[in-house]
Amino acid sequence: MPCPVCAAEPRALETEWKGMTLWRCLSCASVYMDPAPTDADRHAMYDDPYQGATDGYYAKAEKKLRRCRKRARMLDAYVTTGKAFLEVGSSGGFMVEAMRERGYAATGVEPDAPGVAYAQKTFPGCTFHNGLLEEVEARGVLDQYDAIYCSEVIEHVPFPRPFVAAIARHLKPGGVLNVTTPDVAHWNKPKDITAWNEFCPPSHCTYFSPQGLRTVFAEHGLEVFRHRFNWKAGIQFYARKT
Ligand SMILES: [Zn+2]
Repeated sequence: MPCPVCAAEPRALETEWKGMTLWRCLSCASVYMDPAPTDADRHAMYDDPYQGATDGYYAKAEKKLRRCRKRARMLDAYVTTGKAFLEVGSSGGFMVEAMRERGYAATGVEPDAPGVAYAQKTFPGCTFHNGLLEEVEARGVLDQYDAIYCSEVIEHVPFPRPFVAAIARHLKPGGVLNVTTPDVAHWNKPKDITAWNEFCPPSHCTYFSPQGLRTVFAEHGLEVFRHRFNWKAGIQFYARKT
């Protein structure tokens, strides 16, 4: 299959690992699984109680909320069109709550059912929907948003082009998208991808380069206006819908 990030065909074998095959796109330098994991594989991962929300995971709730308040302040500073917020992959709901505290009508989408149950109980002033983005969208419950946040999620998506299209559909013109994901082209990433702490297929199935993410964003009218410097091999993009 062509690169699921930029759609180019030329590729080189990156690695064969535990029966999975990963390819490096020779156009955008992103790395992807082919064959890709199926939606059933993805649900199996989210339905695994050891991968999902546990009491231990949420034990640091106050710390998580404090960190999200900082991110919320940074994101809020760029938003000029209104006060509707969506998080794609909202986990325990901490960022959704942090944006609600800043006056937003705040919504989260999350495929992990225990995460959604925890978030709805802990943050009753917010709205949470259980499911993958495209599934929740198909229920007709999503609106248009002034700010969308999607952190450490897109690397779990085997076909990020329709995923980014779905995000762009729900962002108002002038609205701001903040995405973070591991950076496969970063100077601080080990040369051997299997030695990288972000390498965990099939859970992480698409490894983006900044160039690849910019390309798929641009195709959906999302213009990157800030790329935060990162010592860690991570991409932190802020983009505006044109
Ligand atoms: Zn590519």
